[in-house]
Amino acid sequence: MTKKAFFFDRDGIINKRKIGGYITTKEQFIFEVDFFNIFQKIVDQGFITIVITNQQGVGKGLMSEAELNQIHTMMQDAINKKTGFQFDGIYYCGDLEDSGSQRRKPFPGMIEEAVKDFDIDVSHSWMIGDSPSDVQAGKSAGCKTILIGDYAKGFPNADLVYSTLKEFLVSLPLILNK
Ligand SMILES: [Mg+2]
Repeated sequence: MTKKAFFFDRDGIINKRKIGGYITTKEQFIFEVDFFNIFQKIVDQGFITIVITNQQGVGKGLMSEAELNQIHTMMQDAINKKTGFQFDGIYYCGDLEDSGSQRRKPFPGMIEEAVKDFDIDVSHSWMIGDSPSDVQAGKSAGCKTILIGDYAKGFPNADLVYSTLKEFLVSLPLILNK
């Protein structure tokens, strides 16, 4: 039986974005306050949860893959401690923006890998992010999409737009019952 999934962008959804920079150490990784409640509700509804994140700081040599993996191990441990669950998968792309990599968002490569690995039904799955490139990747993969941030409604063709994670959290039960 195929499964439904919730794909999460990382920076700006799970943890606070570092404006104009990259999160290269565990100390710089600060969770978004509403993330845990959002994650818990989604897991409770039987979704598989997967991180889909561009991390070109690796390609730029600002951190190693081992350092990025350490950050993700810390992230998973903290989520597990709070909720009793953790992400089922983490897909990252360290390729540079101008590399043309089909794994890097806005391309759907990472989502497509996860769909194969976990036998996911994309038509019942969601991608949530805070950038138009997250929406593009999700749509190209065949998912429904949620965009968080100060965007005009309907831009860039996201299925749902919320100005904040808090606003999304409040609406979440309705979305999940659709
Ligand atoms: Mg982001």
